[in-house]
Amino acid sequence: MKIILLGAPGAGKGTVAKRLTAIDGSVQISTGDILRGAVQAGTELGKEAQGYMERGDLVPDALIMGIMESRLQEEDCKKGFLLDGFPRTIPQAKALKELLEKLKIHLDMVVELDVPRDVIFDRLCTRRTCENPDCQAIYNIKGMPPKKEGICDKCGSRIVQRADETEEAIGHRLDTYNEKTAPLVGFYQNEGMLKTVTGTSSDAVVEAIKSELGM
Ligand code: ADP
Repeated sequence: MKIILLGAPGAGKGTVAKRLTAIDGSVQISTGDILRGAVQAGTELGKEAQGYMERGDLVPDALIMGIMESRLQEEDCKKGFLLDGFPRTIPQAKALKELLEKLKIHLDMVVELDVPRDVIFDRLCTRRTCENPDCQAIYNIKGMPPKKEGICDKCGSRIVQRADETEEAIGHRLDTYNEKTAPLVGFYQNEGMLKTVTGTSSDAVVEAIKSELGM
């Protein structure tokens, strides 16, 4: 499958993407994971992105398009991909459209995960992430805690609260989403590609996407 997952931070894009990749071997491409990996590795990209990310601001479009142009041409994308956290602005969506045309890649659909803001806010405040850049597994201290407190079930590294998951930064990320990313719903509606899934259970979302794709 070749799809875009659209939705506010905390809507469940990452969780849904991981479940879907297990079905058909498509890869999850999360620009947030790529950027956090770059920050931890201290690369040039990471140094440029870090300040924006910690404030909960978007990283400039040009930087993101550079990452995606090479990522989409990697071998593992041939089986399919789920874009998680990209595109995030109208200019990114337009640039992606051109890029896909150039690479002759056909998108199946854009899935919007529609989750109420209070549910999202609560989820983000209690979210914890594995600090190992190659793992970045996600937990929730209320709903999905690790077996051993503070330790990742998958790789044994520490799990931490992200620098952009303070209440202040979360509020700012949600405002940024409403201002910059929510307009993509209209953009993809016009393209005839949008499917909206309402609900808070990732099981239900996964089932809805599978049936939409005839899987
Ligand atoms: P979430 O969806 O939970 O906000 P992500 O992991 O997708 O978190 O992104 C974390 C941060 O990385 C964002 O707040 C932003 O600074 C940056 N980022 C990720 N993807 C993009 C993108 N497509 N365009 C601009 N900035 C991005």
